[in-house]
Amino acid sequence: MTPRLRPCLLVHYHEISLKAGHRPMFLRHLRQNLERATVDLQPVKVVQLPGRLMLDLEGNPAPEAVRERVTRICGVANLALAQRVTSQMEAIKAAVGRMIEGRQFESFRITARRAFQTYPLTSVEINRELGTFVLERVKTRVDLDNPALTIHVEVLPSETFVYSDREPGPGGLPVGSSGTVVSLLSGGIDSPVSAWRMMKRGCRVEFVHFHSVPYLPPTSQQKARALVDRLTQWQFFSRLYLVPFGEIQREVVLSVPPPARVVVYRRLMVRIAEALARQTGAQALVTGESLGQVASQTLQNLARIDEAATLVILRPLIGMDKHEITAQAQALGTFEISVEPDQDCCTLFVPKHPATRMAPEEVQGLEERLNLPALVKAGVEGAQLETFEFPKGAGPFPVSRHAPAAEEGSRSQ
Ligand code: ATP
Ligand code: MG
Repeated sequence: MTPRLRPCLLVHYHEISLKAGHRPMFLRHLRQNLERATVDLQPVKVVQLPGRLMLDLEGNPAPEAVRERVTRICGVANLALAQRVTSQMEAIKAAVGRMIEGRQFESFRITARRAFQTYPLTSVEINRELGTFVLERVKTRVDLDNPALTIHVEVLPSETFVYSDREPGPGGLPVGSSGTVVSLLSGGIDSPVSAWRMMKRGCRVEFVHFHSVPYLPPTSQQKARALVDRLTQWQFFSRLYLVPFGEIQREVVLSVPPPARVVVYRRLMVRIAEALARQTGAQALVTGESLGQVASQTLQNLARIDEAATLVILRPLIGMDKHEITAQAQALGTFEISVEPDQDCCTLFVPKHPATRMAPEEVQGLEERLNLPALVKAGVEGAQLETFEFPKGAGPFPVSRHAPAAEEGSRSQ
């Protein structure tokens, strides 16, 4: 009888496996995210196996589409479409035979791993036996260092997985496992990358964009929407708050001299974003600032911005060069959206030479001329909420007023 080969997608994680006590919580998030991401590509059954997850694709009409989705699931270290067979050598050979059928490759290697020690053959013996099997069927040679084709064989007690084309996932931690943050999203290159980096650290990201309609055309809002739409592919559901900022800027212009305006604007943005964060249960803010990139991003000015906040401000790009950020934006597909020409609200009423070293008393003195509570209230109340979903039917993630108890203190290592 010919052994039965069953298609599946094999998913390995890395960082999660280092989490001793909280591994089940991380795995639960990863499993839920795999289910969410493939909700419209059924049938897909997510199965937890020792040390890995398996998406059973039996009867699935579009395994390639499933594979493509999983490349964007944070927490996934690598993934591969594989054949599942029983762990008998004959069945494993049938799967290897199917894989090399009609294929030409000038060199290859077998990389076998036993996930349990009681299997009758060692990894070396499996490599040898399968290597011979391949050499009998294809005109090729073994190359352990630089093979044209690597055939991976993972032997578990109940079944074995055979695959060749393994690709990296984003790595990191599953979205949702670290809590929720609010990203200050401009239309620029940096802030979308900073938001993504926090997703990769397990955060759900809510977005806030400040615009200056009607003083400027609505292009920045459209860019923000397009960016959130793109980034939603990594977290499946997003909320975007569009905050009218033009009127607030006009108030600032009336009483704050030009060099100080950027820091004052930024502090107002932080206060408004924080008020929105409290509504959604988010625990931190995220910006795309990178040290020294522009005048408002000196150590002194960053400190002034921090002083306006009570939540922690995360700046995942702080030590990155522009070209590193740009390369990341290109890989994410946000770059093309960000470089579309537009006039950001910060181009409105912004001086040519902003102050680079503002003192705390200086900023406070200037802000005393403003009715801060009224400006923050106007921003919060004027905010328009839009939601984004990917794929259709993924549904919203829950609003977390408080991080669930299991998720607090999850950093055991
Ligand atoms: P980006 O490329 O993200 O626009 P930038 O290098 O242009 O960053 P700044 O203009 O100084 O830097 O903005 C610093 C950070 O402030 C941005 O990364 C973003 O997090 C936030 N920010 C700036 N403008 C806006 C806006 N209109 N709406 C929301 N957040 C903003
Ligand atoms: Mg900008």
